[in-house]
Amino acid sequence: MTLGFIYETVLTRVVFGSGTMRQVRNEAARLGGRRAIAITTPGRGERVADDVAGHLGPLSVGVCAQAVMHTPVAVTDSALSAVREAGADMLVAVGGGSAIGLSKALALRTDLPQIVLPTTYAGSEMTPILGETAGDRKTTQRSPKVLPETVIYDVDLTLTLPAAISATSGMNAVAHAVEGLYARDGNPVVSLLAEEGIARMARALPRIMRQVSDREARADALYGAFLCGSVLGSTTMALHHKLAHVLGGIFNMPHAETHTVLLPHSMAYNAPAAPAAMERVSRAIGVRDAARGIYDLAKALGAPTALRDLGMREEGIDAAVDEALAKPYWNPRPLEAAGLKALLVRAWSGEAPS
Ligand code: NAD
Repeated sequence: MTLGFIYETVLTRVVFGSGTMRQVRNEAARLGGRRAIAITTPGRGERVADDVAGHLGPLSVGVCAQAVMHTPVAVTDSALSAVREAGADMLVAVGGGSAIGLSKALALRTDLPQIVLPTTYAGSEMTPILGETAGDRKTTQRSPKVLPETVIYDVDLTLTLPAAISATSGMNAVAHAVEGLYARDGNPVVSLLAEEGIARMARALPRIMRQVSDREARADALYGAFLCGSVLGSTTMALHHKLAHVLGGIFNMPHAETHTVLLPHSMAYNAPAAPAAMERVSRAIGVRDAARGIYDLAKALGAPTALRDLGMREEGIDAAVDEALAKPYWNPRPLEAAGLKALLVRAWSGEAPS
């Protein structure tokens, strides 16, 4: 029964398909851009951004390949100089969450419009959220200024994403949808997106593991990532994202892998307080127990299932519990130290969730 809700739509134009990167020039012109600078990560990202710049034709004023993980402000300052020197009037981000993070940080400071071509499943392109680091401090903010105007999903850009990164990036997307299902500000529309996003991703990932260039599976996964990212953009996340941020902050743990390991355990913790959400996850992946199903999926994908395998030391568990309780996020099940510690002990050792 739906008694009442608030649903705010995300105002981003989405172009989805195969070969859609060729539409970037039209999309840039549609936004009034005349001098577009591509923002990306060094290495492979730069080569893809060069292709995108080629499709921008006379609207391109170059490529800035300075993005790194966690959007450090020092990198943003340097990229800001490059954007100003180029006289850019538009940002075109090409890459995963790291490239998109830098583009968002630049948009925050300049108000320039953004077109984003995502190449992973992290979902940042659909959110008004920006996380930045200064020294070892990470701060997160929501601002309409950082929400991209246009997102061009091109399945072809994801065909090269290695199997291992596809698995963890896909599980990162699933985590957004799971927490959207029990979010305090969730609603029936977002729940539809979340369930379908999880179903698409869970169906696609095993096929991608068998053949990374399976275009149909890649299309399903990218569509799933779009839906899951939309859920992240329109709801407020809970315990699972808090723990992932805490571990990322204190121990510098890798983003998508940490989400992958934690998710079944955060779900098991919240399951008694969020039965309807768990029922939807179960239905989406075709299992009886949602948390166990997510754990089994990660295992089947060959993704990491233990925090200790990601370099976390067991002694860090208490510090993580303290930090999670110090500035807690709202959560469907109240947070208590013993329960959180048990959750992290299991996630650390790689046991099944319970
Ligand atoms: P990433 O952007 O760092 O990419 C991971 C790796 O994959 C990199 O080595 C990259 O070069 C490579 N790669 C990316 N696309 C590829 C492709 N198609 N083919 C081959 N290699 C490719 O990682 P990510 O997981 O996409 O993003 C993580 C970052 O995004 C974190 O900093 C996280 O905090 C942020 N994030 C932000 C939001 C938000 O809403 N603000 C949401 C999700 C993630």
